[in-house]
Amino acid sequence: MKTIGFIGGMSWESSAEYYRIANQEVRQRLGGVHSARSLMWSMDFGEIERLQHSGNWQALTDRMIDAARSLERGGADFIVICTNTMHRMAGEIAAAVSIPLLHIADPTAEKINAAGYRRVGLLGTAFTMEQDFYKGRLSDKHGLEVLVPDEADRKTVHDIIYRELVVGRVEDSSREAYRAVIARLVGRGAQAIILGCTEIMLLVSAADSPVPLFDTTEIHAVAAVDIALA
Ligand code: GLU
Repeated sequence: MKTIGFIGGMSWESSAEYYRIANQEVRQRLGGVHSARSLMWSMDFGEIERLQHSGNWQALTDRMIDAARSLERGGADFIVICTNTMHRMAGEIAAAVSIPLLHIADPTAEKINAAGYRRVGLLGTAFTMEQDFYKGRLSDKHGLEVLVPDEADRKTVHDIIYRELVVGRVEDSSREAYRAVIARLVGRGAQAIILGCTEIMLLVSAADSPVPLFDTTEIHAVAAVDIALA
């Protein structure tokens, strides 16, 4: 079994889900008391969040490269970044280590394509919904048409992530807000919705959407196990 190198802590609420899902998946596939071989480098999200909101992406890139190199030195066979947003610097991270990086958008898009959907709604942080690093990969590499919520809805989705979900707060009123955002994306033609922030699965489930949800946390963690056991 290969050793997964998780870069986590962004937030730890979702990293804990990665850890749980990967371990459950290995036990399910290998049986008995088997579990995933992994290392996790866990960031202080207080520092990360401050640098994100001040737009200091170079400092963030330096920290991510540091983490990836530490995991490589520690014996990780490949890198899994446990957040969509911090794939913004996936290219720089991949170039800084000699082990592969499993990009979160790739297994997600592959699943969507395999299910036959073309036009998808994307929920995530404002960084993920507004910048091109994520949408661009979905469209250029995987041929998906990506819809994002309008400005007011993007703010709602972003604020709920940073004020509530990353500190483990799950509020019914926020779930209602997300349901409404999803319904508006479906109204604009979304055939499926990407939960493109690794905490959204703490709040939203299939019952909250009239179309299928593609949860990046689950998909990414399972794809990591696929590689670990290949
Ligand atoms: N976990 C989130 C994501 O998937 C947001 C936290 C972060 O900015 O890293 O984008």
